Amino acid sequence: MEARVPIPIAFEREAESDILFQRARVRLTISFAARAISLLLVMLWPACSGAQQIEAVFETSFARIHSYSQHKELVKATGESLEFARQSLGNPAGFPPRKIEVYLYESEQQMAEGLMAILDYPRKDAEAVAKAGFSPFTGNTLHINSRAEKWGRLFWHVVVHEYAHGMAEERYGPVLPHSARWVYEGLGEFEANRTLRRKFEAFEEAYATSRFKVVFKALLFFKLFQFKNILAQDDWFANIANSRERWDIQYAQAYTAVDYLITNYGFDNFAALLTEVKNGRSVEEAMQKIFGLSPLRFELRYYAFMLLRGLFGFYVHYTLALAALGFLLSLTVLLLVKRRRSL
Ligand SMILES: [Zn+2]
Repeated sequence: MEARVPIPIAFEREAESDILFQRARVRLTISFAARAISLLLVMLWPACSGAQQIEAVFETSFARIHSYSQHKELVKATGESLEFARQSLGNPAGFPPRKIEVYLYESEQQMAEGLMAILDYPRKDAEAVAKAGFSPFTGNTLHINSRAEKWGRLFWHVVVHEYAHGMAEERYGPVLPHSARWVYEGLGEFEANRTLRRKFEAFEEAYATSRFKVVFKALLFFKLFQFKNILAQDDWFANIANSRERWDIQYAQAYTAVDYLITNYGFDNFAALLTEVKNGRSVEEAMQKIFGLSPLRFELRYYAFMLLRGLFGFYVHYTLALAALGFLLSLTVLLLVKRRRSL
């Protein structure tokens, strides 16, 4: 029999709190009204904009999938991965309250229009998110571009990542995505990787390794971000919009940094950091308070950790080859100097 997965993270820690539950109920009532309006807009939107009509609606026990396309495999993968995410990540404080509404779009442009109509995104943000291919989990909806059909197992990873976002936001509020973006994204990546190791162990292992390698190479070429520059949502979206490389590096950096913090300081302390941020402290202040780390100290430790991991974990053959080369060169120089002196 499969071992029951412990409900991870931050999400279960305060799940019994009545106050939180009450607050969640108030939010749910508000979100219900917002959803009713959204659905009305969805019905009106294609008629108004001339956009492609929804072709089909699929129901699973947990999600309602509105498909603008006939990508059957994608619909199936969406339903299955959401079920898996729900079972694995739990359902604290009544979240999500009812069926998740998923929208599968045919193109980036169609997705951007959907995000503006349904979630009221400004055009700039809608286009950045549509380019990424997945919306964050917002207002009980998830928006996906159908080119994600080609992603294979990564598709599952991204669904769990987004689901974890939804839960993190439910518990810690909108301040995380808006002002603590790398922490928020790193947590989504961490949870997706940790959870899906149960299902696709080799894939997730390889995925995590690839993320560490991206960071190691960025570190060698001085391309890593200062963490303060990837805290704001606007900066994060701008990187996605402007450069494929910056986009990739910021996600890899966020994931490895959260992995570093949780591995070295424990999950409870990481959850305490999130609570501090929820209560109004900046990430820097919260890190100082919980981990006793100034921004500079955190950055230096993280760089040193990544450097050692790259040199002696992933690229140990190169490191040994370089060391051997260095040794031979020093020896040659030494011998030449000795010979010249004896002449
Ligand atoms: Zn994300």
